[in-house]
Amino acid sequence: MATKYRYEEFTWPEIREAVAQNRVAVLPVGTIEQHGPHLPLVADVITATEMSRLAVAGMPEEAVLLPSVYYAFNEHHLDFPGTIAVQGDTFINYVSDIGKSLAHHGFKKILLVNGHGSNVPFLDIAARNITNHSNAICAMVPWWNLIPKELFTELRESEYPGGMAHGCELETSVLLHLCGNLVQMEHASRDIPVQRSEYFYWDLQSPSPVFFQEFFSRYSKTGTSGDPTKATAEKGRRFVEAVVVRMMQLIRELRAREIAPRVDHH
Ligand SMILES: [Zn+2]
Repeated sequence: MATKYRYEEFTWPEIREAVAQNRVAVLPVGTIEQHGPHLPLVADVITATEMSRLAVAGMPEEAVLLPSVYYAFNEHHLDFPGTIAVQGDTFINYVSDIGKSLAHHGFKKILLVNGHGSNVPFLDIAARNITNHSNAICAMVPWWNLIPKELFTELRESEYPGGMAHGCELETSVLLHLCGNLVQMEHASRDIPVQRSEYFYWDLQSPSPVFFQEFFSRYSKTGTSGDPTKATAEKGRRFVEAVVVRMMQLIRELRAREIAPRVDHH
């Protein structure tokens, strides 16, 4: 029988066994929000979940896949229908509680895999909360951070910065590969903020030096930020495969990582 890796399918003795095997607990976190007229609201859940699933399925003795977090912080998208916004402190506490529960059961290594740009500061704090208030260590990675630089250089056709931000060349390519039936390319169009500078821009390939996010409807007419017309399923396949390979490396490294004892120097 194939080794189980979906957390919710385990019995409690099996969870105890998974802890004894020092498996890494992998929690995908997305959001439910508008992604332009061509992508489904669930885009960020699908990307984070599917890449995590592919990674964990490739190493089922070493990790478990948690059920995904669907709702998150995104009130800057509320001017577009569909977005479900959760307050920042609620979101931080919710994810922290999931991690602390895992630590309570004995999991020592927890990885949050993020699919939504604006989750980054909140999940960073949640990961620190879990690490600071349990015996486990918790790390967080946005999946696009795992794309090798050379692959951006090879595949990217949209302008930098700006072409890859939201419902963009990157996200649309990945969704075309993972669930092409949910993508309506006939409604995809280029929509990049007019006000851009070396200080103010948004791009998944590398973040701007200044942290700033205003209401999306102030700078996007379509709900897109980037150029989804440059997206293809083949690019999506290349991006996903590269992310999954590196996510597996990351999970292995986290699993092997020594948790050194704290030292009280008072
Ligand atoms: Zn997204």
